[in-house]
Amino acid sequence: MPRFYGYAGRILRIDLTRERTKVQELEGDLARGFLGGRGLNSKRLYEEVSRHVDPLSPENKLMFSTGPLVGTMFPTASRFNVSAKSPLTGILGDSNAGGHFAAELKFAGYDQVIIEGRSRRPVYIFIDDDEVELRDGSHLSGKDVYEADEAIRREIGDRRIQIAVVGPAAENGVRYAGIYANLMRPAARTGMGTVMASKGVKALAVRGTGSVEVADPGRFEKLVEEVEDEIYSHEQYWPRRRMGTTRILMMANAMGFLPTRHYRSGVFEHAWEVSGERLADEYNVKTRGCFACTIPCSRFYVVRGGRFSGLYGEGPEYEAQGAFTARVGNGDLDLALKAIDMCNRLGLDALTTSECISWAMELYERGFLTREEADGLELSWGNGEAILTLIEKISRREGFGDVLADGSRAAAERLGRGMELTMQVKGLDLIMADPRGLKGFGLGFAVASRGGDHLRSEPFIELSDDPRRGEEMFGIPEATMRLAYRGKGRLVSYFEDWCAVIDSLEVCKNIMENMEILPFERAAEVLEAATGMRMSPEEVRRCGERIVNLERAFNVREGITRRDDCLPRRFREEPLTGGASKGSIFEQEPMLEEYYRERGWNSETGIPERGTLERLGLKHVADELGLPRENPGSEREPKAFKGAGRGRIVCATS
Ligand code: SF4
Repeated sequence: MPRFYGYAGRILRIDLTRERTKVQELEGDLARGFLGGRGLNSKRLYEEVSRHVDPLSPENKLMFSTGPLVGTMFPTASRFNVSAKSPLTGILGDSNAGGHFAAELKFAGYDQVIIEGRSRRPVYIFIDDDEVELRDGSHLSGKDVYEADEAIRREIGDRRIQIAVVGPAAENGVRYAGIYANLMRPAARTGMGTVMASKGVKALAVRGTGSVEVADPGRFEKLVEEVEDEIYSHEQYWPRRRMGTTRILMMANAMGFLPTRHYRSGVFEHAWEVSGERLADEYNVKTRGCFACTIPCSRFYVVRGGRFSGLYGEGPEYEAQGAFTARVGNGDLDLALKAIDMCNRLGLDALTTSECISWAMELYERGFLTREEADGLELSWGNGEAILTLIEKISRREGFGDVLADGSRAAAERLGRGMELTMQVKGLDLIMADPRGLKGFGLGFAVASRGGDHLRSEPFIELSDDPRRGEEMFGIPEATMRLAYRGKGRLVSYFEDWCAVIDSLEVCKNIMENMEILPFERAAEVLEAATGMRMSPEEVRRCGERIVNLERAFNVREGITRRDDCLPRRFREEPLTGGASKGSIFEQEPMLEEYYRERGWNSETGIPERGTLERLGLKHVADELGLPRENPGSEREPKAFKGAGRGRIVCATS
């Protein structure tokens, strides 16, 4: 009988410096306290990567982690998190991707792979069940993601292995390079590919022939069927299947929060030309799913005419689609697909790449950047040649591309101008939603543990603009109204806990956000049926809260305080000029106050109170941070929300 159900029960450590591997047993208390995936990585990162570690040094550790549902037939349980200290932000780095890589890692028998040290020679790692090999990777240097993937498949002689690979951008030290699984499934954010390349590793190839046993197969199967029925009958099922996240672009435009020309407007006059609807009708040829996905939302497209005729690929997702259309003022969908394809092949995070380019375009327009400084490029909005040339230059760190290759914050520091125009929080460039039109999302960007990002909270429910849901879930009607402020601290802390659980189970957020199919109540049931661990819904939620607090503690140790929980000046001072969110600004301070209160964090410093950490079983963290003994956080009652999953979120424009 296995000691673990659901989990593989094993951790693989690969020491590149000594060329040694070690297999350890998964600690049961870690599984119970941090679930898996993101939680397991964050816990290990806190314990093993101290504040003095340079992100690109051998002392940084790169961790891949799956979750207890991955490898089972639970719908969408297909994801992995990869974490390390980020070379882009200097704080907690973490990214998540789907596809088939995570399930293969689980079939090979591992919940987590920890890569330590630095190889003296270029290598790729081949995990073949219990055999782990460091193979010569010198012939892969400089190859793009597609080329390297193909070369490894041929060399191993097995087309069904799963590969996570970095592109030349990572090898050239671009600080926002991602790790690509299944060619077009990137763990793109915070520079995890850069860390992998700094260790001399081009790829992780995995072949697994095992399986995952669950604790109560009958009950588990019944829960799977229930979830599948809900997915198939949900009104979001067909829009997701047809358009994936690209369905968001027209909605964002209608609601006036589509970042256009570097967030100077929330409305793009060419939105329809670059929409998900057009992509679905004129470009898409088939759908594709991640492992065990019953939605599925991924699509293959083909460009059938014009100068990029024959270009094909998977996706894109809304973030990349918006990033290379509205954000850079480009109304040509073919051009956007080309730019995204280049980012994929070169291994760049499309969001940070586009922010660097659109920031440079705004500087250029305002006369803060000359054509000469930009290597002779005419950086006008939507200039396709300039966009494509800059992507190439960034990936090679060549000329002006070298200035942009460390992210917009570092570029502004290097140029000595334009810092207040950078659209980033804690060094991570912002996503494709203008916070002036979505206050809860904006608060989430300000406090997210990996910097300016939505996937740490993603309170999609505020798009419903339905006060009844706010009253029902949080006792505050305004909490679920996108332009209101009251209740947003409660909303965001709740959704942060939920996201941390979803990311740690390694289930896709598509069945969370506005599908609301895996609330804490059902997560507790599924977890028990899969692993045999009995936990109440409140205990599951508390795992999420514990993860959020530990990640905050990691960042506090790196020097993060309340002053860093701050959105760019434009959002706080310049009202949106048109569309359905016209006149709106982002009033940050009252929401932050409420958020810290909800979290049990000190409102002056933004640091968790000792009592909060102790309640979550993190006393050693409070001790290490040197927190005072007075503990105002300790008396705070555990949160008792009624929970999501009781109704359906219908966006106000849908
Ligand atoms: S919904 Fe899309 S991203 Fe999520 S698991 Fe399915 S195919 Fe993958």
